Amino acid sequence: DAPLLSIENLVVDFDTDDGLVHAVDGVSLTVRAGEIVAVVGESGSGKSVTAMSILGLVRTPPGIIREGRVLLRGEDLRAASGERLREIRGGEVGMIFQDPMTALNPVMTVGRQIAEALRLHDHDLGADEARARVVALLREVGVPDADKRYGQYPHEFSGGMRQRAMIAMAIANDPDLLIADEPTTALDVTIQAQVLDLLRTAQRDTGAATILITHDLGVVAELADRVIVMYAGRIVEEADVRALFARPRHPYTVGLLSSVPRADLDGELLSIPGSPPNMIDPPSGCAFHPRCPMARERCRTERPEPYDLGDGRRSACHYADELDEGLALYAAGKE
Ligand code: SF4
Ligand code: MG
Repeated sequence: DAPLLSIENLVVDFDTDDGLVHAVDGVSLTVRAGEIVAVVGESGSGKSVTAMSILGLVRTPPGIIREGRVLLRGEDLRAASGERLREIRGGEVGMIFQDPMTALNPVMTVGRQIAEALRLHDHDLGADEARARVVALLREVGVPDADKRYGQYPHEFSGGMRQRAMIAMAIANDPDLLIADEPTTALDVTIQAQVLDLLRTAQRDTGAATILITHDLGVVAELADRVIVMYAGRIVEEADVRALFARPRHPYTVGLLSSVPRADLDGELLSIPGSPPNMIDPPSGCAFHPRCPMARERCRTERPEPYDLGDGRRSACHYADELDEGLALYAAGKE
């Protein structure tokens, strides 16, 4: 059956004073109805830009979407009108950002904004009915005194409560897809756990597929069904969450998981040396080669494309099949 969302060969640059930043360089992925797909990578890996491209939220300029298609239930969103995109945002697709203040209007009460979101997508909804539904939604996401909170402004909410309000707005119109960009990164650890629980519940109740953008592998392990790992604007690995944690098939993923002791390497911890690449002038061949413990000559010249390893797994490493031996040798050499 056709995927809910598919992104095909997305290429996005940003025009900066220092030159063209190649933020996303040929990303293809699909999301099926109801599944939670985590997109992970360091900052600057292109994960947020990929997600923002879905709904035309890459600001142009300085962003330049050079190539690619984004299909939502077969509808080409790059060809969609501004009006259609506004209808989709907050309708079929709900969005949750790291900073709720970017999603909430500071000069409108929280209740009224959610009510307007509802009425934007259901023109027959009366004011009283909208209000009742918003209060019920606020209760559902765990905002206490929802009746009173309805009339308060975003700055009168705590960070955690604002995040709850934003989730209420994102799920208000029963979306098919949720895009959550670092939804818990700005929160205290205890609040993080509560918001994660809430996200999980919201996802279950709405049945919405979710794209979860995060650098936090704990969050990935908690929530995701499938994981896409990005590095330097490209997908380097994709796998079912259990398979990825059990046996990563790309050296970069191994590095990312390095705080997790690896049974297959006798508990050895590997870490990623070096720093993320300069995306104005990315390394030749495999962009990870300057940091890769397994890099060989071929890696400097020939760019690996993601290839199928079976069971829905992809890796963009020339030596994915030799990874276990290669990294064991590396680990031994570090003694
Ligand atoms: Fe390392 Fe080469 Fe694989 Fe890139 S292609 S991850 S440099 S071994
Ligand atoms: Mg980001």
